[in-house]
Amino acid sequence: MSAVEITWRQRGACNGLDPAVFFPDSEESADEAKAICHICPVRLSCLEHALATRERDGVWGGTTERERRRIIRQRRRSA
Ligand code: SF4
Repeated sequence: MSAVEITWRQRGACNGLDPAVFFPDSEESADEAKAICHICPVRLSCLEHALATRERDGVWGGTTERERRRIIRQRRRSA
């Protein structure tokens, strides 16, 4: 893990919270995690990390796995 990555993770609004909130059972039960991400100061760094590493599970940067797949598809199309 790079120093830059450690820095944004430590500044995340989820730092110290129950990780289970960010790994909901379904897309539909991701609202609590998304609400926390919404006020997170490092949301964009977190989202870009998840997109770059193709994170499959959990809510990252306010997005679920399905939403990240959609973003990746949209970026491919507009590239
Ligand atoms: S965007 Fe969400 S998952 Fe990412 S660091 Fe912030 S609170 Fe945590």
